[in-house]
Amino acid sequence: MAYSYEAPVSQSLFDRASAVTPGGVNSPVRAFRAVGGTPRFMVSGTGPYLTDADGREYVDLVCSWGPMILGHSHPEVIAAVQEAVSRGTSFGTPGEGEVALAEEIVARIEPVEQVRLVSSGTEATMSAIRLARGFTGRAKVVKFAGCYHGHVDALLAAAGSGVATFGLPDTPGVTGATAGDTVVLPYNDLDAVRAAFAAHPGEIACVITEASPGNMGVVPPAGGFNAGLKELCAANGALYISDEVMTGFRTSKAGWYGVDGVRPDLMTFGKVMGGGFPAAAFGGRGDVMAHLAPAGPVYQAGTLSGNPVATAAGLAQLRLLDDAAYAKIDAVSAELRSLVGDALTKEGVAHTVSAASNMFSVFFTDRPVRNYDDAKKQDVFRFTAFFHSMLEQGVYLPPSAFESWFVSTAHDERAIERIAAALPSAARAASEATA
Ligand code: PLP
Repeated sequence: MAYSYEAPVSQSLFDRASAVTPGGVNSPVRAFRAVGGTPRFMVSGTGPYLTDADGREYVDLVCSWGPMILGHSHPEVIAAVQEAVSRGTSFGTPGEGEVALAEEIVARIEPVEQVRLVSSGTEATMSAIRLARGFTGRAKVVKFAGCYHGHVDALLAAAGSGVATFGLPDTPGVTGATAGDTVVLPYNDLDAVRAAFAAHPGEIACVITEASPGNMGVVPPAGGFNAGLKELCAANGALYISDEVMTGFRTSKAGWYGVDGVRPDLMTFGKVMGGGFPAAAFGGRGDVMAHLAPAGPVYQAGTLSGNPVATAAGLAQLRLLDDAAYAKIDAVSAELRSLVGDALTKEGVAHTVSAASNMFSVFFTDRPVRNYDDAKKQDVFRFTAFFHSMLEQGVYLPPSAFESWFVSTAHDERAIERIAAALPSAARAASEATA
């Protein structure tokens, strides 16, 4: 596909980056490989806008893959960070900020009695799984195809997100021994979970699932699916781990738990709770968390865990996320979903706008999408054409058909109008695209 627009400064930065960094990026989906073209190197962000190194402004519908729920450079978050930085950047001791952030999480999310702070969502899921194995004395982990839980060795099998984008079947470097204890099942299929418990009696430590998946595109759990998982885990002595790294503090004040009320044994968080800094967490039942070092024998640690600058940013962001903020984000999401759907319908493009609360994505198919296999059957080439037309018109979408779109409280009428103005020709490009 040829692109009629250019980004010479981004291109020269990408050339420099490619010389010193594999693929020119520090996280694969950023490289635009799924859609082609030059990844944009961003230099600043304000509210709903990003500005790239060529001086072009975009309405941002990626929001750093979820964290920037108040938009970029929110003055109160920036002030909290500046205040924290002025007192020093890392002490390697306990500090009050991490206590306050833990208290905020425990206050918002009822099943979380205790929480441990870490630095990335990957660390959170890796640690939660180790804890589940240590607590139950069992080895096997059940996960679902298309769910991404970070690049934890045992969880990369049939993962979504970048793994879906690049169609990687398995990841070299993950040994058979590591992956051998992972049981991968189709999403939204409770019979498959029942069968797995029957096939591995007394062996399954935990079932881990995205609370509502966003890494194969947005595919919400079917009614009763999460409750069924919880029940099957309880009946079989396994822990139910709900990965809320993406949904946590985004889909409601209490994340997806606030939407479906199913009580997990352990939960993982990241993205929004760090306010744009590396902060994440796992937490849950007090009796399970008590097995974690130094209270218990399961080891887990981190030099920068509970970092004072990251916790200040996260706490400032969470404190601003009140009911009015969620009402705003929900309204922006609903408006955009209907604008996108109308534009594609008008051009006769087969599509499904799939939403879970305010998270949503567009599948270029009109067949129902209930799992990863369904998601893969969409016309990805139409997304590619749609993406580039939006980019050219100054709207920054996730550069993959298998990702959620994210909005923020900063997406005001002006930003929405700019998206609305770009949609008709993007929908036309999608309709004219050929495989
Ligand atoms: N879990 C889920 C549901 C995610 O969406 C992600 C990242 O996208 C992760 C875990 C991993 O988080 P991180 O990229 O911070 O390691």
